[in-house]
Amino acid sequence: MIVGERIRQAREMFQFTHTALIDEVGLPGFNQSRLSRIENGLADADPEIIELLAVALRVRSDFFARPALPALAPQSPQLRARSRLTTASKTAVMRWAQTILEEYYRLEQSASPLMSGLEDMQDARPAEAAGRMRQLLGFDDFSPLPYLVLAVERLGVSVLGIPRSEDHMDAFCAWSGDRPIIGILAGTPADRLRFSVAHELGHLVLHRHVNRRPTVEAEADSFASELLTPRAAMGVVLLRNPTLSQLAIIKSEWGVSVKNLIRRSRELGFIDQDRAVSLYKQMSARGWNKKEPGFVSYEKPRAFRKLAEISHGPGPNVEAMARSAAWSETLVMDVLNRHARIDELPHESAPIRHVRGINVVDLASVRRKQQATGSPVNRILL
Ligand SMILES: [Zn+2]
Repeated sequence: MIVGERIRQAREMFQFTHTALIDEVGLPGFNQSRLSRIENGLADADPEIIELLAVALRVRSDFFARPALPALAPQSPQLRARSRLTTASKTAVMRWAQTILEEYYRLEQSASPLMSGLEDMQDARPAEAAGRMRQLLGFDDFSPLPYLVLAVERLGVSVLGIPRSEDHMDAFCAWSGDRPIIGILAGTPADRLRFSVAHELGHLVLHRHVNRRPTVEAEADSFASELLTPRAAMGVVLLRNPTLSQLAIIKSEWGVSVKNLIRRSRELGFIDQDRAVSLYKQMSARGWNKKEPGFVSYEKPRAFRKLAEISHGPGPNVEAMARSAAWSETLVMDVLNRHARIDELPHESAPIRHVRGINVVDLASVRRKQQATGSPVNRILL
């Protein structure tokens, strides 16, 4: 039994129009009206069409027989309101998220799923919410957040690496029922990606129920700035009016671009406008607008790949995973490549404790530990 909705899901994921997909399939007599009727459940597809569609859409034919996950509720305003993204692009991004999340849920069945430790902070000011978020993530106000994406996953947000890039989108957030989701698109520079993930996290805690007011973007930015570069720490780090070269060192330590650090200094009143302009001019004179010095490591989410390793053995076994997901092997590899292997994680997260299920420390135990030691726990070993 073929579910037409599943064909539509895969078609929209790869942003095929009906006509483009028909050309790709290239079967005489298979036309737009037939495809439309199949997608709408008004006509059956014969086995030959099904197999050709599966090849074109990089899945296995049984993908089309599976029930679809209820549509995700997009939260990022750029997915909802008018934005520079086309409707087809927005739909494609959400279809990718849906498809990966379906597999995420399936894989979770052989592990212990983690509960979301996110709190709704809609009544807090963005900077206060960021401070609270630092506590939830297990960091005080004076430490850099070394691998933000991993910390966010430990908090119970499902972070999906999407093998697709968009000029006007780095990341987005959505809800699958009560499950918070952050999707990360490919092709974003590492420092910008960290800021975007922090921004989306801000939307999740601040705007779940108040998404329509005009200030949401600025609030998510304030949240992200305070989360990555807290005022208290920056008062020490940035107060001495650092030179550009010193800023490049601070960048590597805090995982925030030089340009962002200048903006933050200005925002916090540590430098005046003249100094900010002078720093920006020096940046452009040195060609730093194109490529800044300083290193920020690229952060991929880990949980999806880890779940796949638990279910399908080390590697994981791509063939086994393709069978279970009803994806083609290349689709499996493309998606897995957007999720971190164990050796792509920073060393400070190692060693990984091998417990059954996804190794996420529950926040209650972190809090107990904090209370017992009287100091915040900076690193949670996965
Ligand atoms: Zn936003």
